[in-house]
Amino acid sequence: MTMTETLVKLTGKPLAACSNEELYLALLKLVNEKSAQQIRPVEGRKLYYISAEFLIGKLLSNNLINLGLYDEVRSALLAAGKNLADIEEVEPEPSLGNGGLGRLAACFLDSLATLNLPGDGIGLRYHFGLFHQSLADGVQKELPDPWLTDHSWAEKTDFTYPVILGGKTYTARLYKLAVTGYEGRTNTLNLFDIDTVDESIVHDGIAFDKTAIDKNLTLFLYPDDSDEAGRQLRIYQQYLMVSAGAQLILAECAARGCNYHNLADYAAIQINDTHPSMVIPELIRLLGEKGIEFDEAVEIVTKTCAYTNHTILAEALEKWPRAYLEAAVPQLMPIIEKLDAVVAKRTEDKSLAIIDKDGKVHMAHMDIHFTHSTNGVAALHTQILKDSELHGFYELYPEKFNNKTNGITFRRWLIKCNPLLTSQIENLIGTGFHKDAAELTKLLAYENDTPVLERLAAIKKQNKRELCRWLKQEQGITVNPGAMFDIQSKRLHEYKRQQLNLLYLIHQYFEIKAGHLPPVPLVSIFGAKAAPAYTIAKDIIHALLTLSKVIAADPVVSQWLQIVFVENYNVTAAEKMIPACDLSEQISLASKEASGTGNMKFMLNGALTLGTMDGANVEISQQVGSDNIYIFGQTSDQVIRRYAAGDYKASEWYEGDPNLHRAIDFLTSPEMSQVGSFELLSRLQKELKGKDWFQTLPDFNAYVVRKGQALADYAIDPLDWSRRCLVNIANAGLFSSDRTIAEYNQDIWHLGK
Ligand SMILES: *Cc1c(COP(=O)(O)O)cnc(C)c1O
Repeated sequence: MTMTETLVKLTGKPLAACSNEELYLALLKLVNEKSAQQIRPVEGRKLYYISAEFLIGKLLSNNLINLGLYDEVRSALLAAGKNLADIEEVEPEPSLGNGGLGRLAACFLDSLATLNLPGDGIGLRYHFGLFHQSLADGVQKELPDPWLTDHSWAEKTDFTYPVILGGKTYTARLYKLAVTGYEGRTNTLNLFDIDTVDESIVHDGIAFDKTAIDKNLTLFLYPDDSDEAGRQLRIYQQYLMVSAGAQLILAECAARGCNYHNLADYAAIQINDTHPSMVIPELIRLLGEKGIEFDEAVEIVTKTCAYTNHTILAEALEKWPRAYLEAAVPQLMPIIEKLDAVVAKRTEDKSLAIIDKDGKVHMAHMDIHFTHSTNGVAALHTQILKDSELHGFYELYPEKFNNKTNGITFRRWLIKCNPLLTSQIENLIGTGFHKDAAELTKLLAYENDTPVLERLAAIKKQNKRELCRWLKQEQGITVNPGAMFDIQSKRLHEYKRQQLNLLYLIHQYFEIKAGHLPPVPLVSIFGAKAAPAYTIAKDIIHALLTLSKVIAADPVVSQWLQIVFVENYNVTAAEKMIPACDLSEQISLASKEASGTGNMKFMLNGALTLGTMDGANVEISQQVGSDNIYIFGQTSDQVIRRYAAGDYKASEWYEGDPNLHRAIDFLTSPEMSQVGSFELLSRLQKELKGKDWFQTLPDFNAYVVRKGQALADYAIDPLDWSRRCLVNIANAGLFSSDRTIAEYNQDIWHLGK
């Protein structure tokens, strides 16, 4: 059967007569049928990747690519006057993640299936996922972001598991979502939900009654935990995931012949950050029900589980008051206490205890003691864990610590999102890089090939035009594709320092007004959601939106500078923005960004990086060499020393640097407060002058100088810029998640037989 015939059979009518919705449903069916054929039997060890987040993005095109159907489907549709991109618009994006951590989990699932490794995900089926961001009126507003429709990728099953929350038993239901591999196998993302959740209790944006857990349990990803009810709900969510997940794991392994004593021969469990940590005591509890003694259960669980640390921000390492856990999961508390007693026998160092003297339960501590592997996510991050943050643990268990530098799947972040660049690379070096990213280095043969470099520049220009078209369509904004596109897109957080970019833009506003014109017009593009209760992050968004209006209203400055804030940054938006970027902003305070993966996506798509020596930027700079990246700012050692000394005073920098003084003062100028809110702007100003916890001000000058250099290079020698973009693409192979997963498998999981 031809593809057209297949699709006609699925829709029941000529393709030309179908709506995009009808075609979408037909393609969903086609993909599910094809992917089911790629399910493979499991032998030996199978991985379970447990994560509170899987930021999978839209699945249709990605699945078509992985199943080798994309070109055929596109042609069949085109012949009927239909466009696959329009059909893709019908698909809602499942926003089951906050940002990098969730997106990493999604990339890992893709690579596991592609490498033909048995590895499933375990997570939650949030009804709304993360909120939808609206930026009307100059401030962020949060709205629900529905993605579940009658026909979703996650299929309901009849598998249910009892889960005890607060002493009451609920029924977790399993939904299965097929994970396709590129020319590989099909694995499963297992998502749990309960049937009684009621979407109608959501009101006024994303508010809802936090006490009715039968109705609210899986409504949202990480409900606001700024109050006690929110924190309780978060524990309930986590326990729902790990209890149902642990039951599923034990049942699957038993079905394959496991007698529980040999669980580690059948299962490897990766704990993605501390959210799933309760899987450790839960497995011990369940093994106890199967008749296994505590000491042996501890040994089995330690051999089976491994833990990934994603952050060194102390406030992000989860610590739950004992009373919360006693109320939410009383069945686990005796086990956690016994584990704490085991720790007390292993070490006298009280700072390594699971339960501290204030009765707080440290989830990461439990992970490190009772798993066999603790990994960081970039070389610098792992080093900092060993040297400082987790130094005591490293001394106790040096053999457990290892590094696994993050990666991204090239199928989504190159082949799918940048078809023009993909086909140009294929023309030059063939298609081997689809599965073997290291082959990209073959591009280096074209480093001095002028027609190739000109073609690369033309592709970038075309992608920029496409982004302009999309911005016009979505937000009604007109952007000049001839400008340099500088993009900072990632969660809004003070450590990521969107405020540094903000201060630069104010500085440029003054410079241009003073007649110091830049070498090229600049469009500064932001995409960022702020956590709903994160006041300063929201103030930074407000300041950027306000400045954007002030600049747009200035007849001179607007010729040279434009700020664009993309609403609701998510995977779909990222796929439009990243291929169109000239300069990638990776400007976190050194030592604070564990790895970053946005930095890798931009590099792969031929952008140069302006960044600090932080996270994976360090490895990117090693790969491309210092001429092909713009590095600036304090080193992580300097930052860590400054924190240790405790002598950083923002006010001294503010008083001592006239440019900084002028930029910070401008926040509350009449120009700004006529357009924006004086209250919000002055709150941000006070924070920057009086505290600036993430040391923005000491890096300001270096940032201005380095960015000026990038603008000048871009304007003066476009061909050389293009050459350096090519060097970045060619050296991006290390950052394929296929490489990352192969390392996890070799060092930690040992999957299969
Ligand atoms: C990759 C990605 C991120 C992570 O970006 P960082 O710059 O590494 O923080 C966040 N959100 C989305 C939608 C992404 O695709």
